[in-house]
Parts: sequence; structure tokens; C-alpha cells
Amino acid sequence: MSVYGKNSYVATSGILRYCIYMVKTEEIQVATEGGCSIVDITDQVAEATANSQIQNGAVVVFNIGSTAAITTIEYEPGLVNYDIAEALEKIAPQEGFYEHEKTWNDDNGHAHVRASLLGPSLNVPIVEGQLTLGTWQQIVLIDFDTRPRTRRVICQIIGE
Ligand code: ZN
Repeated sequence: MSVYGKNSYVATSGILRYCIYMVKTEEIQVATEGGCSIVDITDQVAEATANSQIQNGAVVVFNIGSTAAITTIEYEPGLVNYDIAEALEKIAPQEGFYEHEKTWNDDNGHAHVRASLLGPSLNVPIVEGQLTLGTWQQIVLIDFDTRPRTRRVICQIIGE
């Protein structure tokens, strides 16, 4: 039998173990240039995770807004300054035609499409208090909008 929730008992191999599940939420702010700018937010997510004091669980990193995405990347100049932008330009070109721009008379249809494809959030397992990232794997926010923005990113840490 397993019962999950706050202050629940979890039976594992016949041994009853008392677990206290916690949820901690922290907001970080990220200044961006827009135009497919990629910002490394690994240190801020690691800090939020450390502040939570949760040792085992996961952190959900979620961008509030529909024109930026959260993912991981090897944060090196080739990918960050060229390759991602060029790949996305083929899929959702900035100068393409978008019905969205007729709806609002704006210029960021491509930004919405790109953000939807990559997704607004990332889930990173936490083991022994550490994010389980690879050495060449950084957490990034990619802002596709057509102007500089200050992004609000929620780090919600769930675990024990
Ligand atoms: Zn728009």
C-alpha cells in the first residue's frame, strides 16, 4: 500500500517509513533581450532548490507567459548565438504569416508558435539536494518575443 500526500505513510517492502512531503515555491525574475535570446538560469534554479532544503524530489521550472520557453542546452556560443535561432527560423520564421497577428495587430506570431513547441516548463529531479543535470546541460529561458522583457519564472520544489 502506498499513500502519498502531506505527512503520509509509505510502505516499502514491508517497512513502514514516515515521509513528510513539502512544497516550496519561489519566483525568480529574468531580464531578457527578446528575439530568441537565451539566458542561463541554472544558478537561480539551484539557489531556489537549496533554499527549499528539500533533499529528494523534483523542481518544476515554469515560465509565466506564452512567448518564452524553458529547456536545457549546452550553454556554449554556437548553440546559444546561432544554432537554436536558425533551427527555429526554419520552423516558425519571424517574417512568416500568422493569423495571430491579425487577431491582435501585433508582430509576435512566430514567438507564440516557437514557445508552444518548446514548452513553458521543465521538471528536474533532485537527488540528495542536488539538481541531476549533466556537466554540459544548463537550464535556460529562451525569450522569443520582439522586445526586451522581464520574465517571471516559478520554481516549485516538491519532495521531502
Ligand atoms: Zn501576440
